[in-house]
Amino acid sequence: MRFTRLKLNGFKSFVDPTDLVIAEGLTGVVGPNGCGKSNLLEALRWVMGENRPSAMRGGGMEDVIFAGAATRPARNFAEVSLQIDNSERLAPAEFNDSDILDVVRRITRDAGSAYKIGGKDVRARDVQMLFADASTGAHSPALVRQGQISELINAKPRNRRRILEEAAGISGLYQRRHEAELKLNGAEQNLSRVDDVIEQLA
Ligand code: ATP
Repeated sequence: MRFTRLKLNGFKSFVDPTDLVIAEGLTGVVGPNGCGKSNLLEALRWVMGENRPSAMRGGGMEDVIFAGAATRPARNFAEVSLQIDNSERLAPAEFNDSDILDVVRRITRDAGSAYKIGGKDVRARDVQMLFADASTGAHSPALVRQGQISELINAKPRNRRRILEEAAGISGLYQRRHEAELKLNGAEQNLSRVDDVIEQLA
C-alpha cells in the first residue's frame, strides 16, 4: 500500500492547509528543530486511527488541534487526509471502486473524531483494519519514533512478537478473533439464560 499525499489542516503546528506529495522511493523530512517533523509522523499515525494521547505527545486527544500562537487564535478542529494508491485493489471490497482512496480523520472540539474512507463515513475500527490488513498502521514498525530503537532492544519478548505480527499483517486477524470471542461469550451467556427460563417454565 503506497501513500501518495498527506494533507493537514489545523493539526498541531500545521494550522494552515498543507498539502504534501509523497513521491515514490525513500522520503526524508528535514528541517530545523521544532519545525514540525515529528508532527508529520504523528499526523500519519493519527489518520490511521491512533487513539492514545501519549503516542501523540499530548495529554488528551484534542491536543492535536492547533492550540493558538501569539498572533493566531486556536482552531476548533483538526483534519488529516491520507491519499492511498489503491491500483492493486488491496482495500476492502466496499471501498475498491477507485485507484485512489482518501482516508480522512477530523476531530472537532467537544465532538470527538470522525473518519471517512473514500468519502463514506466509517468507524475508527474500519480505518484501523484497513491499515492493519495492509501490514501498516499506527503501530507499524515502518514509522520509527525518536528513542524507539532503544525501546525495541530493551523490549520484553512479548512486545517484540507484537511488532513482528504487525509487520506480518496478522494483527487485524487477532483483533477479529478477539471480537469473535466477545460475541461468542455473549451468545453463551444468552443461551444459559434461555436454559434458566426453560427450566422455570418446565
Ligand atoms: P525536533 O527536531 O526538535 O525533534 P521537530 O521538527 O520534530 O523538532 P515537532 O516536535 O514536530 O518538531 O514540532 C514541535 C512544534 O510543534 C513546537 O513548536 C510546538 O509548539 C508545536 N506544536 C505541537 N502541538 C501543537 C499544537 N497543538 N498547537 C500548536 N503548535 C503545536
